[in-house]
Amino acid sequence: RAKSRGGNAHESYKHQLHAEAEEKRQMEAELRKAIERNEFHLEYQPVVNADNEHMLVGFEALVRWTNEKFGRVPPFKFIKVAEDARLIVPIGTWVLRQACKDAVKWPGQTKVAVNVSVDQLTEPGFIDVVTKALHDSGLPAYRLEIEVTEGIFLNDGKYATSVLERIRALGIKLSMDDFGTGYSSLGYLSNSLFDTIKVDRSFVVGAAQGKAESIAIIRAVVAMAQSLGLATTAEGVETEIETQMIQQLGCTKIQGYYFGRPMPFADSMELFENQNRRNVA
Ligand code: C2E
Ligand code: MG
Ligand code: MG
Ligand code: MG
Repeated sequence: RAKSRGGNAHESYKHQLHAEAEEKRQMEAELRKAIERNEFHLEYQPVVNADNEHMLVGFEALVRWTNEKFGRVPPFKFIKVAEDARLIVPIGTWVLRQACKDAVKWPGQTKVAVNVSVDQLTEPGFIDVVTKALHDSGLPAYRLEIEVTEGIFLNDGKYATSVLERIRALGIKLSMDDFGTGYSSLGYLSNSLFDTIKVDRSFVVGAAQGKAESIAIIRAVVAMAQSLGLATTAEGVETEIETQMIQQLGCTKIQGYYFGRPMPFADSMELFENQNRRNVA
């Protein structure tokens, strides 16, 4: 190793690739046992209306993994590994069922948004998994939102569309996540499958910094969403300035650290208690 650091860039690169492959292999082995070991939990991040009342309308469920060997692993590190090993299918099923069980305890029409990977969506049993998650939890379909990214249409767009149509026929809402960061497929937005477009945080940041391109993109997305009758959620809003910018640009919902970080389920329940107390006072 000392030798490779000494200048043999090729050897060092090979060594690094090997180390990465080895870590991935170990992570995959740990992920394989993670559900039965109860190593996953969900956190919930508030979604609020973009008007001045900022009423809480729902939460996005975000999966968390804590493992003995790897510690607390962020999703950007393990979701890809889980997808490559097709472990995202059982993990995603666990997420969906847990999110529905939790969400049914929130009052009123509070919604829960669940992220679904392409492999999970296109797995033959997916519609049954969703139907059963709703049935077993008692959550009404309209309170569940499924978030997919633009990548869902890359391989077999026709099949993905047919699954989304069936999900929608169940009364579940659909959101296009991270809009503008991937392979943008405007055609898929116009066939009235989706209810919400989530504007990626990168545009929110750019707009608040006064970047003309970011502002132009958000304006275009909002105009398109309005004419198609879709909601727009600004993702990753961290500051008062970003909030004002997003309101001016006409996004209908906001999600971000400024209004709430992802939190354990128990804390999400407390938000309602506080809100009730405020309403009574
Ligand atoms: P996403 O669906 O776009 O989720 C939003 C991400 O932005 C979350 O990261 C959230 O914690 C983060 N975020 C929210 N507000 C702010 C903010 O104000 N500033 C900044 N800098 N970040 C903010 P997280 O939880 O690390 O998840 C990352 C991604 O992992 C998610 O992006 C989603 O694509 C994926 N993911 C999470 N949970 C699941 C899951 O259950 N299934 C699948 N398939 N993917 C998941
Ligand atoms: Mg999401
Ligand atoms: Mg997102
Ligand atoms: Mg995102």
